[in-house]
Amino acid sequence: MNTSFIYLDYNATTPCDERVLQAALPYMTEFFGNAASNTYSLGTYAANAVKIARGEVAKCIGADESEVIFTSGATESCNIAIRGVAETYQHKGKHIITAVTEHKAVLDTCNALEKEGYQITYLATDQQGNINLDILEKSITPATILIALMYANNETGVIHPVQSIGKIAKKHGVIFFCDATQALGKIAIDVVTDEIDLMAVSAHKIYALKGTGALYIRRKQPRVTVAPFLFGGGHEKGLRSGTLNVPGIVSMGKACSIITAELIDIQSKYTILKTKLLQQLLTIPQTVVNGNIDVSLPNTVNVSFLYTEGKAILAAVKDKIGISAGSACTAHLNKPSYVLLAMGHSENRAAASFRISIGRNTTEAQIDEAVNIFRKGISEVRAASYIWKNYQEGRENLQHWK
Ligand SMILES: *Cc1c(COP(=O)(O)O)cnc(C)c1O
Repeated sequence: MNTSFIYLDYNATTPCDERVLQAALPYMTEFFGNAASNTYSLGTYAANAVKIARGEVAKCIGADESEVIFTSGATESCNIAIRGVAETYQHKGKHIITAVTEHKAVLDTCNALEKEGYQITYLATDQQGNINLDILEKSITPATILIALMYANNETGVIHPVQSIGKIAKKHGVIFFCDATQALGKIAIDVVTDEIDLMAVSAHKIYALKGTGALYIRRKQPRVTVAPFLFGGGHEKGLRSGTLNVPGIVSMGKACSIITAELIDIQSKYTILKTKLLQQLLTIPQTVVNGNIDVSLPNTVNVSFLYTEGKAILAAVKDKIGISAGSACTAHLNKPSYVLLAMGHSENRAAASFRISIGRNTTEAQIDEAVNIFRKGISEVRAASYIWKNYQEGRENLQHWK
């Protein structure tokens, strides 16, 4: 990789922590045993390592180790949780509540269930990305079996009022599934005080290996049951058969133990860098923040540079900084960031949005440099832009940029 390239897309994925790598490596070579083959010591070593990792993941989120199953990632965890509840509790009802700003792993699973006869309520958010708790509570019907709302949004960093959601769910006897993939390692999570019943997390977002995730499944008050997802050898309590990915699991355990020990330090580092980043970005004319910045992850900033084509800015900066752009549409969806659109922003504003996410390797110098790259790129784009000229001369329709 180009050494001057500044990576600021840690919400997309993270590099493996050196300590995590060292913990995982022996399980690919010397201790390669199958965790289910425990008639000889190689298998037992693997099984023990998985047990330790399960304990580390559990401790990091306030759960018991018996409440954690390992999966291939947060996408799979979201699928198991939502589909598993839908199947198990369908005798009670077929109504699920989620929100328009959720990750596709949740939305597309809900969409699929809708086609199978389930009824889904997609809660709207305000322009800041906040959900309305009164509307959430009023949406609950006797047929509601699940509330699926994320801990913190991957694009805006906006944090949902998880404890309040948990209380509402409990009051009405509805299961609360929380996709905490972005929150883990950035803010403190406790499934007990947050009253979460099911929770998805991913290893590659917390400086561990790709291809591993976990699902927390509450065992008491109430005991939550999900239907099996993969059939086979009966691994992971029969919910998710398949030989365990021991190196990935060990890496996730180590990453969680680092979070348990270092979260406070990580948070204060992020907060300092984010404050600096935001202050500097806001000196670029017509920069606006997307999402409720007062209730957001300490590492995430989402801004739009108004009256400027997002694609042109992206082209100007993308060889120097790694960021996520609201204009980088997915192949099948020729629309900018669905999250910003769902929050009620215009296509122009969504297409001119950038998510900048700080990580453990980010330095103050990188923040300074990244803002300079943006500043230079944006002024070049604006110098050649008829939209910017129109805006300056009062001819641009400002409503188009709300
Ligand atoms: C990354 C992410 C996922 C998907 O995680 P994978 O482990 O890559 O499948 C799900 N939800 C959120 C909020 C994410 O940020």
